[in-house]
Amino acid sequence: MSTQTKAKCRVCGCTEDHACPGGCSWVEPDLCSRCLINQAEKEIMLIGSRRMSLSFSGVQAFQTLSALQLALRHPGMPVNIQKLIVEQIGPILQQFVSVGPATAKLARLGWHPEADEPVEAEPEPERRIILPGE
Ligand SMILES: [Zn+2]
Ligand SMILES: [Zn+2]
Repeated sequence: MSTQTKAKCRVCGCTEDHACPGGCSWVEPDLCSRCLINQAEKEIMLIGSRRMSLSFSGVQAFQTLSALQLALRHPGMPVNIQKLIVEQIGPILQQFVSVGPATAKLARLGWHPEADEPVEAEPEPERRIILPGE
């Protein structure tokens, strides 16, 4: 018998043969993913009243803004996170990085997927027909 088949969650006692409802996987040799998520949810309840501030360089701010704008396009993005990005974090970053007309425009266009540059396909390798007598 391998250790994997004997594994048992130290919190809920689920095993390889009797997983949690909805399924779970091992995140530690004796801790299942379901229990890790449950524990994280309890901890997150405790941080609700905390406040933090961050310090970015201009470049980091631009990269963060771009990453958030990209993340917003994910269809699975929860609405409350979308609102957090669009109404709170995004505008602060956008204002910070808009140091001239070009950066201001880039930062603004990032909210609009229709303004994306099309990704160019790899150019076809040049085909050359060799004619007789050449
Ligand atoms: Zn468990
Ligand atoms: Zn489990």
